[in-house]
Amino acid sequence: MQQAKIIDGRAMAADVKRQMAQRVAALDGRGRSVRLDAVLVGQDGGAALYARNQGKMCREVGIEHVLHELSDGSTEDDIADRVLRLNADPQVSAIMVHLPLPDGVDTERVQSLIAVEKDVEGVNPANIGNIVYGRRSLVPCTALAVMEMIESTGVPLRGTCCVCVGASNIVGKPIVVLLMRCEATVISVNKYTPNLGEITRSADVLISATGVPGLIGSAMVKTGAVVIDVGISRVTTSQGQSRTVGDVAFDEVAQVAGYVSPVPGGVGPMTVAMLLRNTVDAAERTASA
Ligand code: NAD
Repeated sequence: MQQAKIIDGRAMAADVKRQMAQRVAALDGRGRSVRLDAVLVGQDGGAALYARNQGKMCREVGIEHVLHELSDGSTEDDIADRVLRLNADPQVSAIMVHLPLPDGVDTERVQSLIAVEKDVEGVNPANIGNIVYGRRSLVPCTALAVMEMIESTGVPLRGTCCVCVGASNIVGKPIVVLLMRCEATVISVNKYTPNLGEITRSADVLISATGVPGLIGSAMVKTGAVVIDVGISRVTTSQGQSRTVGDVAFDEVAQVAGYVSPVPGGVGPMTVAMLLRNTVDAAERTASA
């Protein structure tokens, strides 16, 4: 029997969107428009679809979305040039560069060129450094989403044991740092960690961000824990249907956890909402500078 409360990412995202629409309208009223410029290089289907959806989401809350589509053959200098022009343009509140970039382009170099105050995905290493130091910064959207979802449960983080499975630069590592800033006791684990289940069972708050479908079963979860599922994978069911799943074996984990976020409908929609919030934050800071 399910005992866990569901952390409804769609409902939370809808709330954030309502708040953003109000903040955008307030900025508009002061003659300041809010604009997100995204750079998309080449024909990657996934990235193009994501970019279009993002444009739609932005427009829903009144954010202007400008997509810069560069050809497949663009060089690192072409992309860098575009980023630098957007940095210098006072009409642009926020910038993001869609991945993947073409082979041979140094993605990290391109990301490090995005102006820190417009870096809406928090990918410039300077923003990551600012997170570590607890300075005002733009934090990667998925990490922000996870923190908001934990906060929504009301479970206090100070002194709480948190385990984060997965340690990528853009997801796992920033989550760990944000949890440390809340003075939680934080354990970071990865695919080389022995006795994973023993460690995850010690977690009052368990976050999984690996992309391994069903990695977290009920035997790996402490009774009453908060479980946040970041993973997104496409799998084919025994009936031959394709479906999106997370890292967490939802049905069984929901029988032991106190709170669990579903996939789809959990971290995904909240990540998009956090992108909108970062964009509005960036615009407000420039407006008050
Ligand atoms: P990544 O491949 O860069 O990193 C995966 C991490 O998981 C690594 O640290 C690896 O060591 C760890 N890992 C892999 N297999 C493991 C195992 N068996 N046991 C323990 N640890 C293991 O991935 P990423 O970019 O961080 O993304 C992770 C997942 O989150 C993916 O499914 C991705 O699609 C999803 N994601 C979701 C959102 C969202 O908005 N919901 C955003 C970003 C990423």
